Amino acid sequence: MSTKIACQHCDYLMSFPVLNPGQCALCSRCGHKISRLKVNAINNLMSYSLTGVILLILSLLFPFMSFTLSGNMMEITLWQAATELYSGPYKLLALGVFAFIVLFPAVILGFILLFLVSLNLFGHTFYNSTLLRLIFTLLPWSMAEVFFVAVLVSLIKLVTIAQIGIGLSFGAYLLFCLCYVKVLTLVDKHQFWYWMDLAKKS
Ligand SMILES: [Zn+2]
Repeated sequence: MSTKIACQHCDYLMSFPVLNPGQCALCSRCGHKISRLKVNAINNLMSYSLTGVILLILSLLFPFMSFTLSGNMMEITLWQAATELYSGPYKLLALGVFAFIVLFPAVILGFILLFLVSLNLFGHTFYNSTLLRLIFTLLPWSMAEVFFVAVLVSLIKLVTIAQIGIGLSFGAYLLFCLCYVKVLTLVDKHQFWYWMDLAKKS
């Protein structure tokens, strides 16, 4: 059974072709790339997701940054980015910050790992389909890389008024963001459902 999909560029409705690993599906009207079945994507996804989870845990364990102003030094951790807001009048914002920069990225990476392991062990199941839907529902709500860019922009301002020190967590979170962005480039709805179809047939 062929699946109908709409081109994200020109909205042309077309049947999704049967692809082999390494092949690319293009819109038959505008030539926009719809999907590409990447070779070795499962191993790459597994490695980058696992590394991302480890780096995210490490980034929560150490100081993120330190600020020295008029001889007073203050260290801040990634937790405190949210908890400092929570202790003030911005409770909802604090929960949002924690969810967008830590919780959702962690849950997405965890679900991807769980999906890949579960697919390998149990094949096409209702739970794997649910996991897939959860992953793609949560993806737009994860903003780790946006947060990191915002931190870098803030640093340009802060460096003129205080002495800034970079903590171990800063490096860990930077590496986590790089891994996470790599995972995002590997996450493709068509590829995931292709793996599900393969598991169904085997
Ligand atoms: Zn198109």
